[in-house]
Amino acid sequence: MSTAALEVADLRKTYDNGVEALKGISLSVAQGDFFALLGPNGAGKSTLIGSICTLVTPSSGSIRIFGHDLAREREAALGCVGVVPQELNFNQFERPFDIIVNQAGFYGIARAEAKVRAEKYLRQLSLWDKAFTISRTLSGGMKRRLMIARAIVHEPRLLILDEPTAGVDIEIRRSMWQFVSEINRAGTTVVLTTHYLEEAEQLCRNIAIVDKGLIVENTSMRTLLSQLDRETFVLDLAAPCQQIPDSVGVHLRRLDENTLEVDVPKGTALNQLFADLSAGGIQVRSLRNKSNRLEELFLNLVERSQGAAA
Ligand code: ADP
Repeated sequence: MSTAALEVADLRKTYDNGVEALKGISLSVAQGDFFALLGPNGAGKSTLIGSICTLVTPSSGSIRIFGHDLAREREAALGCVGVVPQELNFNQFERPFDIIVNQAGFYGIARAEAKVRAEKYLRQLSLWDKAFTISRTLSGGMKRRLMIARAIVHEPRLLILDEPTAGVDIEIRRSMWQFVSEINRAGTTVVLTTHYLEEAEQLCRNIAIVDKGLIVENTSMRTLLSQLDRETFVLDLAAPCQQIPDSVGVHLRRLDENTLEVDVPKGTALNQLFADLSAGGIQVRSLRNKSNRLEELFLNLVERSQGAAA
């Protein structure tokens, strides 16, 4: 099995004010993956990302990046990561070209090579015509793209984007996703935090949902979506049922002799189900919708993050 791009084991962080931001986070991101880290405001996402890029010192636990332990092989580990933080944190009085070249310098890239790369990535992010303009005058979207160019100048194998499209208009968002998808296709592992479900859904192959410092779900996007597309009903029967008749075409589970459970695609009319059950000698007395745990989770997350943003 190949080494994971990112491996977090039992990571905990308690801030000085006593806030337990991370309560034992473990996750693994495979090489080449496009991974979403989703959760409401205050869930612990930034603390987790801060720990990966060493801005936050965890209280305990470990982080490995392409097999390098962050605590023991810090330089090797950090050399594999590029981070696009939430806040614009470059010197707005410098020119994009210089920002990129200087960043390359932090990673020990020779100046001549740094200049070649600065041009290459500024071109790729459609910023070359602004390369020698004072950054402060760039539009919001351009500044975001500059942050991406800066994060990839050392050609990291893992790119982490922390809410990079928060407050960015849809056009810019799309062009950013296109670029990030391309570099992912070319082999870079991408981890993205977002609270736009749609964004995670369209881009990411795997997902972890963080809430109150814990991972509450960690699965593939496909599995998650397939669960969200279905709903489950619990059927109370008028008389005990020993066996589910074969004639019933839908997926039924017998919870006990008086109770069945059925999964159906969302929005399905249930008349046919009742007719089939009735034909098989089963009478339903009452039915209730068993709320989908994942959907509930999603709704909660979104409502809470919207509430917090309002
Ligand atoms: P998210 O990125 O998911 O919004 P954060 O990691 O920023 O979540 O925050 C997790 C929890 O830790 C929150 O309760 C937040 O108030 C708290 N927190 C974050 N940074 C600090 C800090 N520097 N000092 C104290 N508490 C913090």
